Amino acid sequence: MTAAATPAEVVARLRAAFRTGRTRDLDWRTDQLKRLRALLTEGGDELADALHADLGKSRKEAYRTEIDFTVREIDHTLERLAGWLEPEPAPVPDVLAGASALTVQDPLGVVLVIAPWNYPVQLLLAPVAGALAAGNTVVAKPSELAPATSAALARLIPRHLDPDVVAVVEGAVPETTALLAERFDHVFYTGNGTVGRIVMAAAAKHLTPVTLELGGKSPAFVDRGTDLGTVASRLVSGKFLNTGQTCVAPDYVLTDPETAPALTDALAAAVEERFGPDASQSPEYGRIVNERHFDRLVKLLDSGRTVTGGAHDRATKYIAPTVLADVAPDSPVMGEEIFGPILPVLTVDGLDEAIAFIDGRDKPLALYAFTTDPAVRERLLTETSSGGVGMGLPLAHLTVSDLPFGGVGESGMGNYHGRYSLETFSHRKAVLDVPLG
Ligand code: NAD
Repeated sequence: MTAAATPAEVVARLRAAFRTGRTRDLDWRTDQLKRLRALLTEGGDELADALHADLGKSRKEAYRTEIDFTVREIDHTLERLAGWLEPEPAPVPDVLAGASALTVQDPLGVVLVIAPWNYPVQLLLAPVAGALAAGNTVVAKPSELAPATSAALARLIPRHLDPDVVAVVEGAVPETTALLAERFDHVFYTGNGTVGRIVMAAAAKHLTPVTLELGGKSPAFVDRGTDLGTVASRLVSGKFLNTGQTCVAPDYVLTDPETAPALTDALAAAVEERFGPDASQSPEYGRIVNERHFDRLVKLLDSGRTVTGGAHDRATKYIAPTVLADVAPDSPVMGEEIFGPILPVLTVDGLDEAIAFIDGRDKPLALYAFTTDPAVRERLLTETSSGGVGMGLPLAHLTVSDLPFGGVGESGMGNYHGRYSLETFSHRKAVLDVPLG
């Protein structure tokens, strides 16, 4: 977009491109996805440098969790898109014998994708891929809190994609507010629930449907009798990836009082094994996004007994991977989504209390369970509500492109990834064809 273009002009330009009808064509959609793929492969190092500048992400992590992740999502779609777009026949009632009924996936038009700062490449471009696969044009709004990545995306997107099809609008609250005043055919927002409400209210003025990918406190239940070395190592990998700034990170751990001491010891050992005795020296360990979040997190460090971690340095926005024991349910760290490298371990007297604890709070984006007991798995699955469930391994469920990714209740509405993205960005149109004569 040119610097002078207003939101209304950007949307009008994309709507005009949509109305030409060219976005409906399968070859066009395939071509857009290939261009987006090329953006990620050719621009990968530029994006990885920006992610390092914004979040201290290592190159390995930048590729694994953002660039290659999104490439895989695109490849999954490219391989299956033609099949997904096949009209789906439906049987007709006897009175309509001779007629045919079909469901077709109709593109929506112009969609708005608003992304957050924590995975600023993946969370912008994976929805953009879904929107293009569904035959839409897209306004992409990166997060201003990851400014280097936002700038890199604003350079790369027009280099690889037709600006009449994907327009980048950078900016913060005023720019996003101005965008949200326009009429879109779908708004896809990832971020916190407070802004989610603002987005939904703005969209309601135009009766525009929304997808809200939000967060929350995702619990991890550790059953007695599990291999705590394995559990701790997996919890540490999931929790401290991106310095805990991951929407599906295990937020807190629930276990019984007998297991807790051995588990917290195992967590401390797993932290040291992964990041060494001083994580500030580890190339694999990132930094907190900004001072505001740093200050917020430092206030939570006193919420329990420090088993490992606690060190922090405002100048470099470093907070050590921290495990807290003896944490009370009403302590500050249990107030809101932590979204940082602090893992509180709380004790509950058995599964009933764990389920009551989870059900007594907002529905989380993910629930993790570490157990070998099928009855425990079954009860957790059926007696709690969450966006998704990871048995035995945090985070990995969202790498399965055939699974829907999204929240429920306070953790969001709607979902995407793979064919679920196509469904999110399409209208399922019913077509009945009754022959004349
Ligand atoms: P953020 O501050 O980057 O905000 C997200 C987007 O909202 C940005 O593009 C920002 O410009 C825009 N925005 C901010 N204020 C606005 C306003 N008043 N009006 C309109 N737009 C506005 O990111 P964040 O919200 O701090 O992200 C962290 C939260 O996102 C956490 O709660 C996390 O769990 C959640 N999250 C969810 C997912 C998911 O996939 N479900 C993924 C990542 C993060």
